[in-house]
Amino acid sequence: PRSRRETLLDKAPRKGAEKLPAEVRKGHFQEIYYGLDPQAAEFESSRCLYCAQKAWCNWTCPLHNHIPDFIRLANEGKIIEAAELCNQSSSLPEICGRVCPQDRLCEGACTMKSRNGAVAIGNLERYITDTALSMGWRPRAPDVVSRAERVAVIGAGPAGLGCADILARAGVKVDVFDRHPEIGGLLTFGIPPFKLDKTVLSARREIFSEMGIQFHLNQEVGRDVAFDSLVADYDAVFLGVGTYGLMSAGLEGEEAPGVIQALPFLIASTREVMGLAESPEYPLTELSGKRVVVLGGGDTAMDCLRTAIRRGAQSVTCAYRRDELSMPGSKKEVVNAREEGVEFLFNVQPQYISRNRKGQVSAVGLMRTEMGEPGPDGRRRPRPVPGSEFELPADVLVMAFGFQSHEMPWLRGQGVQLDRWGQIRTGGEGRGATQTSHDKIFAGGDAVTGADLVVTAMVAGRQAARDMLAQFEKKEGL
Ligand code: FAD
Ligand code: SF4
Repeated sequence: PRSRRETLLDKAPRKGAEKLPAEVRKGHFQEIYYGLDPQAAEFESSRCLYCAQKAWCNWTCPLHNHIPDFIRLANEGKIIEAAELCNQSSSLPEICGRVCPQDRLCEGACTMKSRNGAVAIGNLERYITDTALSMGWRPRAPDVVSRAERVAVIGAGPAGLGCADILARAGVKVDVFDRHPEIGGLLTFGIPPFKLDKTVLSARREIFSEMGIQFHLNQEVGRDVAFDSLVADYDAVFLGVGTYGLMSAGLEGEEAPGVIQALPFLIASTREVMGLAESPEYPLTELSGKRVVVLGGGDTAMDCLRTAIRRGAQSVTCAYRRDELSMPGSKKEVVNAREEGVEFLFNVQPQYISRNRKGQVSAVGLMRTEMGEPGPDGRRRPRPVPGSEFELPADVLVMAFGFQSHEMPWLRGQGVQLDRWGQIRTGGEGRGATQTSHDKIFAGGDAVTGADLVVTAMVAGRQAARDMLAQFEKKEGL
């Protein structure tokens, strides 16, 4: 009989999803990856070993998705059952399948990784849910018994949606408030359409609405809706408000016309693709024929670079202060950016911004760096190389340095405590992990942890719903 090792090595190499050629995809904002077809899904699912005792994919997934089980069901052609299973542990599986950094999570831990390539778990997750939805499947919420409690969720990002999903399935009446005209948070107004088609979100909104969740869009808490009245009127409130404070590089000339921030730039671009009117808060930047430089090396920077390519820039350059190996974002996105024509300049640190006679940005002054000793975060620190200064011409300079917490003056009246970075503090002795210093107020996602991932925000939102339910049960028992 063949040994297990021989069987392992027998598995054919990973195929995964095909993508549109770079020349084609740079001309529009459509998703670049095709979904798997049934043959490709059968092939890829047959590569799974259904690791029985320790499925590392399942352990490293922050949601602990039942990965081997849904892959097996897909392989047996039981798509509806597979979709049900995906939806049990995740509120947005078709979205995680598209945007999770699987190479760092489930696929990074897959037993097949060092053999013929990790099983394309993300592609299969997307295939299962997309296929089931196109067959008319809707997530089951059997035998929901209505409860008396009502919960207000502030923020329709993955944290808020995860919370609302679990609460609605438990029979709680949920009202979700968001200042944007569509649900999704950064899924809609952050991640560009070529990574995640926006109709995926509108389809989910319909599903959530059918489950009884009420969305109040274009409603900003603190401006259109009073926070204090939500706290008074509802049995619990969830804060899933994200983190939107913009980071300044502290460079001379940063206020020059042509220097723009990453997120408003991405939001304006996506709003236009969605057919929404241009908003004064998110003005569209004309890039046609311009030299665009993006400062930063994370996922947000990659999204800006690839958006600039699609908006007809003459040249698009990424300037990053560390080396390529130290880039924090998904490697897959760096490959995609390069294929689409982005130039990378590593080991350069911005020093100043030059302006032309009209006062507009004309170049960014850079200094070369070399990689030094690791800092407290374990990452090697870049050290400037004296005398290595040079100027890189730029008509538009995009600052993509990440995010910090934003001001929420409306929280003060309720005494919700923040930590020293301005993030909402949760947990502590005798409190639920997601409970703030106010008994009725819970929080999760980027607003608590700082900028992180879609999947971790969703985990926190789902946990908050469970913490609320535990509190309701406790009150009932008194
Ligand atoms: P958000 O998604 O930010 O949602 C918060 C919501 O709250 C927003 O809709 C906001 O409008 C609303 N809100 C805030 N204040 C109020 C108020 N006062 N009243 C009403 N509504 C309010 N993660 C990945 O896993 N994969 C990726 O590929 C990826 N790409 C990214 C690309 C970009 C450009 C960015 C910026 C982030 C990316 N991320 C990615 C990170 C991920 O999107 C976030 O970690 C995640 O969306 C956080 O979820 P959240 O629900 O905590 O907050
Ligand atoms: Fe399948 Fe890889 Fe998960 Fe094992 S670790 S069950 S091979 S996906």
